[in-house]
Amino acid sequence: MPLWKMPFTTKLLGSAVVVLPLLTLACGATPPRQLLIRAGRLIDGTGAAAQSNVVVSIEDGLIRSILPDKNEPAPAGVHVIDARTLTVMPGMVNAHAHLFSGGGCDPGIGTGPSQAFRNLHAALRGGVTSIADLGAPVEFVTALRRHVGTGRHRGPRVFVSGPVLTAKDGYPIDFMGREAVEQAAVIEIQTPMRARALVRDLDKAGVDLIKVGLQERSYNGEPLNMMSEEVLCAIVDEAHQQELRVVVHAATRASYDLALACGVDILGHGCLDPIDDATIEKIVQKDILVMPTLFVFESPLWGPAHLERLDEPETQRTLTPEIIAHLRQYAAEDKTSYEVLPPYLQTGISREDARKGYETLLESTRRMHAAGVKLGLGTDAPVCFNWHGSPVQELKRLEDVGLTPLQALSVATRGGAQILNLQDAIGTLAVGYRADLIAVAGKPDIDLDDVSHVEWSMIDGVMQNLDGPTLGEQVAGFSRLAWAWL
Ligand SMILES: [Zn+2]
Repeated sequence: MPLWKMPFTTKLLGSAVVVLPLLTLACGATPPRQLLIRAGRLIDGTGAAAQSNVVVSIEDGLIRSILPDKNEPAPAGVHVIDARTLTVMPGMVNAHAHLFSGGGCDPGIGTGPSQAFRNLHAALRGGVTSIADLGAPVEFVTALRRHVGTGRHRGPRVFVSGPVLTAKDGYPIDFMGREAVEQAAVIEIQTPMRARALVRDLDKAGVDLIKVGLQERSYNGEPLNMMSEEVLCAIVDEAHQQELRVVVHAATRASYDLALACGVDILGHGCLDPIDDATIEKIVQKDILVMPTLFVFESPLWGPAHLERLDEPETQRTLTPEIIAHLRQYAAEDKTSYEVLPPYLQTGISREDARKGYETLLESTRRMHAAGVKLGLGTDAPVCFNWHGSPVQELKRLEDVGLTPLQALSVATRGGAQILNLQDAIGTLAVGYRADLIAVAGKPDIDLDDVSHVEWSMIDGVMQNLDGPTLGEQVAGFSRLAWAWL
């Protein structure tokens, strides 16, 4: 039985006291002020080796101490969570995701608020306690963030960039279509003055960071308008004046060069083109953070060979029947089209180029990591076989490019928090940090697959209901969103 359904015992190390069903907490009762977690193993997120048998004490949602477990009784009235058979670690921070998207290979399929709730709950079940949406209409995504809140069992903490800022007809309009512009999920900017005004407006609307789309060619090789240096540098300068960070979609050599010239804070992807030592050195010196997003470039190739994943209950819970049918169709067409990928993401992507680009991406990430570039977790989910709830896929690919499992876990926790500039609040288990943590069965620092075996998840010291929202909560969620939208 999962822990969030089990009786919540105040029994302390021997003396049985009261039992209070945990579900009352999940239904809005005040969470206990003080908690103790007895952890069999603890990974703190810094990259340090796991500790054995420790007690984490939590008060008012913050970590107050982490001490060796001496089997002592807890003070009266303090709730105890027994995780002696589990590994406790920080909740993961996915700093590059899309909450309203559907997970099909066609970016238009299955998008909307209903999918956003599925995505949030899948992320939570997959061990993510903080998530950043990098590209959605600002009113919609800030309404979703308000609805989710924190510690309310509605999903991970949500951070938002609002729309993607780009050049006229620039990336990602090439594959998302003009509809993305009509919905203001993407905004075209042509002058520095407009750029500055828009950044100020987004700041007023309450975004957590600014997202820019930068790419001089489509994935099928066709040339694209890319934002000018003048406009990008104006965005970066204005954002920094408003104390906002700038994350760019950059995945090619030319977009990396431009991003570095304007001093952006975060590169939202690894590089699909070969990258030289001088560029890597510049990234290290300027302390620019990178989210490699390896799996999103492999998944359109990898997915059709792993159709059994579509039958898994967890996948069926996350994706609608419509998206699952669409993915099966993609896979069927993939079998017959040898030269190019099925034309859903974009027409005419040569299979050979996609494979080569992915291999170059692995190599450039390997070199960046070896040179000391700081990496953070971003899955870019959900798109084409890369959906929410499986951060382990990204972590295993980080292992492929030379990170140890412990380092990959640090990228997923402390690294993601660094991207969001919250490295002093979340992503690490240490005194004074928010009690955002998960407990997993097994030893993820030895076998990364174990990070998917999430037994329970806690945000701000509040145990989350991993079963997802009840029907009543969903109805309330929709009406809140609709209200915000009006
Ligand atoms: Zn993205």
